[in-house]
Amino acid sequence: MVIPVKSSTKEKIVAPVKEESTGHEKEMPTQKKLTPYQGKRRAFGHFYCEECDKEWTSANSWANCYQICRDCDTCVYPYKQLKLQKGDGDKKKRKPHRTDLCQRCIETHSCCWLMDWPRKKS
Ligand SMILES: [Zn+2]
Ligand SMILES: [Zn+2]
Repeated sequence: MVIPVKSSTKEKIVAPVKEESTGHEKEMPTQKKLTPYQGKRRAFGHFYCEECDKEWTSANSWANCYQICRDCDTCVYPYKQLKLQKGDGDKKKRKPHRTDLCQRCIETHSCCWLMDWPRKKS
């Protein structure tokens, strides 16, 4: 006994999802939060390389910027970032910034901390 199956002719065809992009902004991926700090200023970053179990800090840490581990060339994002304390940017205290290990320096071909000087109070 065959039961005639009425096949619906109105099959729902799933249309390919069109990307809802404005089309104007190219190369603008949604910025993922790669670092705890998301501000525009410098921050005091704490870095930890899992590969060599090494930890370091940098007073020139930026939002969504990694620093390269000196020992294994791994790109490490800071696990902790603090607002710079007074004196952290002090020239006397400042350790020489490894521009070759800093993403921001590498990408801008300059010293990232120079961009933070002179300070503007808003
Ligand atoms: Zn390492
Ligand atoms: Zn830098």
